[in-house]
Amino acid sequence: MLEVHQFPCLSDNYGFLVHDPESTETACIDTPDADAYLREAARCRWQITHIWNTHWHPDHAGGNAAIKAATGCKVIAPAAEAEKIEGVDRAVRPGDVVCLGDWEAAVIDVGGHTSGHIAYYIPGAGMAFVGDSLFALGCGRMFEGTPEQFWASLARLKALPPSTTLYCAHEYTASNARFALHADPDNPTLRKYAERVTAQRARGEPTVPTSLARELPTNPFLRADDPAMQARWGGGNADFVAAEAGIRQLHARYVDAVFRKDFAAFGDCFTDDAEWRIAGQILRGRPRIVGFLERVMDNFHRVIMTFRTPILNLEGRTALARTYVTENNGFKSGRPGFNIGTYYERLVADESGVWRRSWALYQLHYMGPSDLTGSFFEQPDYGAPPAFPPGDATTVNYSKVGGNKG
Ligand code: FE
Ligand code: ZN
Repeated sequence: MLEVHQFPCLSDNYGFLVHDPESTETACIDTPDADAYLREAARCRWQITHIWNTHWHPDHAGGNAAIKAATGCKVIAPAAEAEKIEGVDRAVRPGDVVCLGDWEAAVIDVGGHTSGHIAYYIPGAGMAFVGDSLFALGCGRMFEGTPEQFWASLARLKALPPSTTLYCAHEYTASNARFALHADPDNPTLRKYAERVTAQRARGEPTVPTSLARELPTNPFLRADDPAMQARWGGGNADFVAAEAGIRQLHARYVDAVFRKDFAAFGDCFTDDAEWRIAGQILRGRPRIVGFLERVMDNFHRVIMTFRTPILNLEGRTALARTYVTENNGFKSGRPGFNIGTYYERLVADESGVWRRSWALYQLHYMGPSDLTGSFFEQPDYGAPPAFPPGDATTVNYSKVGGNKG
């Protein structure tokens, strides 16, 4: 049987020594840290005979020269990156076969992180050394390749037998899990996997190696072609139209709640922990938000608002919206009121597609007669949409500009 010795290197790399007891040959999978590799090989009493590089990055090939000098081993590296890698004895291309004793490894093109990145797949041992192409619950950053190239690479890895053990080069699983849960929040298998990762990391245990069987239903980058993921993140026009319709419905409910002074319906336009910035105030949480409206509406007989079409920046079930709003006010005093403002909103859709505000800031532009002969207020210019106010931005305080007191 092939033996794999795995050990941490540098800040978050893993080193792997692969040993064939029969031939006594030993391969370093990449060389993040020459000292660590030489020390670990000595500890195992293994003689390093080969280096198999996956790609040229220094945390993968930086130890080549020192290990080769110390052991006289042969360096095997991707042909496409051979000129960037030290000490290459054999440049290999996708489809080539690399041997350790009688064990054969297929060279697979997994370009994308770097354009010549390769993986070593040993079918007889059911293991693949994938470098920075695929991680547990993630994949490598696309430094050199294109999305199409990266997807084709992941498709090659997906096509391996599910039982394949995947040796990834970094311990990135915990942060990958956070992204994966954001990308695929309704996936119970992922949720369980992420919980196990949290527990493992809390105990200081590695989450590498993983297996293709574990990654296929959970890794969002392997699931990019899944209909559920496509529906959520497809980014197609249908998604945008659906989101815009949902957000316009939210605005319609909002207008209706204000006109009818239906405070419960108004509260339901916000998430529980929403923040609403209006009239120089910062209101946090639904009870305070509703309480503010109740106090303000005391001044009014009726308020009818008109929301224009929202300018939207959509990302899955969250959106930034910037919307012009006019407001006709009937004060209890009998005086009419008209104003114009902009609503900046962060919005979220729940499971059933109902949108709510999680953050909103109302910037008052104008107050006066509806023919706009009244006064416009000095406005901070946040830039072209969808530019947003900075986090600590406040709003025009109505009470200081008058008009709202009735
Ligand atoms: Fe890398
Ligand atoms: Zn790396």
